[in-house]
Parts: sequence; C-alpha cells; structure tokens
Amino acid sequence: MSLSDLEAKIAHDLETLNYGRPNIVRPRTHPDGHVYDVLIVGGGQSGLGAAFALLSERMTNILVIDANPEGFEGPWETYARMRTLRTPKQLTGLDLGIPSLTFRAWYEAQYGLEAWEELDKISRSEWMRYLRWYRQVLELPVRNDTRTTQIEPLPGGIYRVHLEKGAPLLARKVVLATGIQGGGEWHIPEMMKALPRHLYAHTSEMIDFGAWRGKRIAILGGGASAFDNAATALDAGADEVQVFMRRREIPQVSPIPFLDQNGLLARFGSLDDRMRYIMTEQFLRLGQPPTNDMFDRAAAHPGFGLRLGCPWNGVREIDGKVEISTPEGLEYFDFAVLSTGLVTDPRLRPELSLVSDKIRLWGDLDLDVGEYKSALVDSHPYLSPAFSYTAKDPNDSAMAAAVGGIFPFNFSALVNFSLVASGLAALSYGLKRLVAGLSDQFLREDVNELFADYLAYDEKTCEFDVSRFVRSPQAVDG
Ligand SMILES: Cc1cc2nc3c(=O)[nH]c(=O)nc-3n(C[C@H](O)[C@H](O)[C@H](O)COP(=O)(O)OP(=O)(O)OC[C@H]3O[C@@H](n4cnc5c(N)ncnc54)[C@H](O)[C@@H]3O)c2cc1C
Repeated sequence: MSLSDLEAKIAHDLETLNYGRPNIVRPRTHPDGHVYDVLIVGGGQSGLGAAFALLSERMTNILVIDANPEGFEGPWETYARMRTLRTPKQLTGLDLGIPSLTFRAWYEAQYGLEAWEELDKISRSEWMRYLRWYRQVLELPVRNDTRTTQIEPLPGGIYRVHLEKGAPLLARKVVLATGIQGGGEWHIPEMMKALPRHLYAHTSEMIDFGAWRGKRIAILGGGASAFDNAATALDAGADEVQVFMRRREIPQVSPIPFLDQNGLLARFGSLDDRMRYIMTEQFLRLGQPPTNDMFDRAAAHPGFGLRLGCPWNGVREIDGKVEISTPEGLEYFDFAVLSTGLVTDPRLRPELSLVSDKIRLWGDLDLDVGEYKSALVDSHPYLSPAFSYTAKDPNDSAMAAAVGGIFPFNFSALVNFSLVASGLAALSYGLKRLVAGLSDQFLREDVNELFADYLAYDEKTCEFDVSRFVRSPQAVDG
C-alpha cells in the first residue's frame, strides 16, 4: 500500500465512523468577535491529538495555535538531540484506535513491512514527519507563528486569549497543550546568574555545538538529556565533555514500565490523593534514565567523562572561561550545559499571570505524606477529574469560574493523572479524559437551555397520512 492508498483508506475509515458530523456545542456570541468552543494552545503531538479527539466527538468549533513555525512544533526538530525516540516503536495513541492513522501504518506505507520489522526505534525526524502528515491528512485547524501571552477570564464563561501579535482570540475553554515545560519552566539553578549568558545554555535551548569544536564542555545533570547532549557535543568535535551528577549512580530505574504493566497509567487518577502524591514524589526522585544507545554513543568518545557524586557548588567567569567549584576542587571549561530538568508551577507561566494565584496546588492540600513531602510535588496544580484547574478556595465560585475553563494538558497533570499528557506511553488515556471533561463542562453550562429546548422540541422527523382513519365526531357520538 502506498501513502496515497493509505490516505484513501483513512478517508474511508473516517467516513465509516461518521467522522465530520455537525457540532454538538451551543454557539456563544460576543461583541468582540467569534467565540471558539475550545482553543488549544500548542500544536505538538498533544495539541494535535486533542484536536482530532474533539473533532471525533463532534466538538468542531476549535482552533489550535502554536508559537513555532509550521512543521517545527515541539522538541523533535528544535532542541531534542537524541537520534531516536526513547519509547518503543509500537506505542499508539494519536490514532484514537484507527489503525490506518498509526505511525506503523504510515511507516509501512512508505518503506514496507520488512522495514518496519527491522526498525529498532523511531528516528526523531521520522516522528516529526509523521506528526506533520497526521496534521495534514486530518486537516486539523492549526495556526502557526501565534504565541499566547495572556489568558484573561471574562464574565460569562469566556476567555480572552491575548497573542504576541494580532487581535486576541475568544474561547469558552482553553487547553494548554504547551509541552513538558508548559506547566512551569526549565530549571536554571540560581548560581548560574553569576555567569554571562553566552557561556552556558539549558538543554532545551538551541545550541550550536559546532562552535565548541576542540573545546571543553561541562554538563550538569544525570538524566537522559545530559547524555544526549554529551554525545551530540562530542560528535560535533568537542575535545572533552564532562557530565557532573550530584547522585552517585546514573538513574537506571524508570517507574513507567511498572505503571504501564499494572494499568496505572490509565487509572492513576482513581488513586487517593495521598498515594498519588507519594508515587509522584518517587517518580520525580528516580529521574529519567538515559537510553543505552545515547549513553554508549557518548561513552564511546575518548573525551567523555562522568563525574558521579560531584555537584556544582558555584560558577563564575574567569578570563572568558567557566570556573566550576565542586567538592573535588575548581575546574575550568569553555562552555556549560544544564540538563537540570524543569519545575512545574503555574505561577511561573506568563500567560497565567492573571489567574495563577487562584489555582489550587497540591501543596494547598492537607495531606500527611511524612518523609515524602516535596516542594517539587507541592507546586503542581491540583486538577479536577475533568483535567481543569480548580480554585485555591473551593468555596469561591468566582474563583472557580475564572480557572475552571483552563485545562493544562501538559506535564502539570503528572500528580493527578501520571503521564497521560506528557508522552506517548499514556496519551490515549489522557485524550479520552480531556475530551470527556470538556464535553461534560459544556453540558453542565448549557444544561438549562438544553432542558428548556428539549421540552419545547417539536420538530417532526416523519409525517403520516392518517386522514382515512379519522372518524367524524358524529360517527363517534352515534
Ligand atoms: C528531548 C525530549 C525527548 C523526548 N522523548 C520522548 C520519547 O521518546 N517518547 C515519548 O513518549 N516522550 C518523549 N518526550 C516527552 C514528550 O513526549 C515530548 O515532550 C512531546 O513533545 C510532548 O508533546 P506535547 O504536544 O505535549 O508538547 P510539545 O511537543 O512540546 O508541543 C508544545 C507546543 O506548544 C507550543 N507552545 C508553548 N507555549 C506556547 C504559547 N504560549 N503559545 C503558543 N504556543 C505555545 C510550542 O511551540 C510547542 O510546539 C521527550 C521530551 C523531550 C524534551
């Protein structure tokens, strides 16, 4: 089957499933312009999947916006530096159960079954090509080069979404599919303020490693991205790369297989609050192990060095070099790279500045978690079962209205629902919950109108000629 045959099959599959039936949500009007039912901020895999899931459930008055240019959404062709995805090739999710929309179907249509069987892991660029195709074949409504700067709640359950450029957009619900750092920000340790910006970068930034050919680079952090970046720098000609880790061991245990094998990726949201808190604390403490492939690729270079149990205590610039102070003494490098992960906290998001103080956090709960108490977990938002923010004061209905129409479909959902909005392993569960949550909210908000309209409903769906059965009143009386 060629790609065009596959596309014809998809069209047929969608038709078979009655895809494309009219919108079920009541339209809203506003003097300032069109009101979208759902505005999805972020056109990466989560945003695209959310759009398809909403369209499939007949919520069609939607728009996806993304700050990046078309085809460069998410990390894949921007700052990710691993050669392949870290996850197994078989993972599905974006297809919503339609086999012809899977990565495998797309891959086989181009390269054949044998190539699929020989494929070990999906290459980063193939994954991005698949996402571009997915968006195009489903004709998803995406507007690129459009950054949200502010989400302003208006009376009447509508948000005004301000943009970096152009007129604001209006929407009843806003889904923040803004990526793994989209619920907070990449973490840059305070000590880095002592160093001029051109002497360091976070792994989430574009880095021209070619510029550091023949130089010494220090990387801080021991997660997967540290090794991706070490390998990339050495491949690009760096003379030496030292990876510094506070831990004495590289993370080797990922809880994801356990969560998956025990059905917890799907059902994490049903656990009680205390368990969810403790399990997330452990998840964050274990960290994300590097892939064997990227570790081996880095370690194969003679210039690679690993410094276990060696945190940075301070940094400063000395004669254009980076001086790093560690428990082992002072060391000098040409450039520093931070693989220091991210912090989730709605108060860090500029687009939430008008509402972030109204958002309930896990730290606002009165939970007895003993030694598991963690500032990292505490700053995550405490979401509703429907995926939306909840009010810091549960008795304040105005506060609830201001935040309850915003759905952070990103790493913020970790404590509530595990990884359902932060990767492929559980995306399908997340999409189902998100769409059900949105649909329930629309119903709840429109229910009085629907109820009254239902009782007054008198549209005929059929017409019968019963005239010959109708007896005259006289005949009846007689
Ligand atoms: C380096 C790296 C490797 C990963 N590898 C894997 C892997 O192998 N397997 C796996 O399952 N997961 C992996 N993940 C985790 C996760 O799957 C990815 O982060 C994935 O990109 C998440 O998809 P997303 O759509 O949620 O976010 P993203 O793909 O990050 O997309 C978010 C989009 O939101 C846009 N955006 C953000 N803020 C705004 C704004 N204010 N206005 C408008 N647009 C905005 C951005 O431009 C971006 O395009 C990896 C993550 C990273 C960082």
